[in-house]
Amino acid sequence: MNPAAIRFVLFEPTHPGNVGAAARALKTMGFARLELVNPVSHADAAARARASGALDVLEAASVHASLREAVAGCGLVIGASARHRRLGIAELDPRDCAREALAASGAGQVAIVFGPERSGLSNAELDLCHALVYIPANPAYSSLNLAAAVQLIAWELRAAQGLVPDTPPPEAPPATIEDMELFYEHLQRVLLASGFLDPGNPRNLMRRLRRLFNRSRLDRNELNILRGILAALAPGSGARAWDGDGPGAPPGAGRGTAGEGDAP
Ligand code: SAH
Repeated sequence: MNPAAIRFVLFEPTHPGNVGAAARALKTMGFARLELVNPVSHADAAARARASGALDVLEAASVHASLREAVAGCGLVIGASARHRRLGIAELDPRDCAREALAASGAGQVAIVFGPERSGLSNAELDLCHALVYIPANPAYSSLNLAAAVQLIAWELRAAQGLVPDTPPPEAPPATIEDMELFYEHLQRVLLASGFLDPGNPRNLMRRLRRLFNRSRLDRNELNILRGILAALAPGSGARAWDGDGPGAPPGAGRGTAGEGDAP
């Protein structure tokens, strides 16, 4: 368990006050790593006022141009959603989210991602998530203020710290977001070349496959096996970006390349 490996990502927050309040929420719970994706603004007067004694966390926040960049290196990405979604992504409650995140933090980096105040996370962002966390609030009004949601998730992470036993290191580190993206690109190339994926009528095939594999939370060895299978079935298909050399790799393969703005 390594709570310092857990980062909090705010995706396209529109109200700087919420960013400041989120910084404060993190610091009060002993966390410090805040990542922002395309914030409207983040360290302006409103943000600073709401950050109060957590100005250091606010000022140290990194700003990214994409969610992919903000979750780089992560082996577990959990998206926070203000509503139930029927998307084939595992949904955790805050307590289980805390346990999963802490358990995973011993072996790799972890991100918890929060959506914009108005719209929440869209499918494109959820494509990068292994699981969702939903705070089971009033079913008739379950949308918390962004910083309040951050506070609650951060509190659960703090409360669980004494409860999660240290797990032995896994056999292989988790596949990172970058590993997974290379795999999806490879898979798509093979599916296109085979004719199974029709570019004229792709339906939701790649999204469904992402959900399937993200749910499995593959480790690097497992991912290398899958890439090895793709490379064996479609020789040359993996040469572009594969750097896999795990047990699944064929010999010689790879190595290359309102108020606070919350909607009601
Ligand atoms: N109107 C948006 C809500 C956005 S609230 C929607 O319907 O999706 C801003 C962010 O706070 C959400 O994207 C989510 O990350 C977090 N959040 C708010 N309420 C939450 C809840 N009940 N459970 C988990 N996250 C929540």
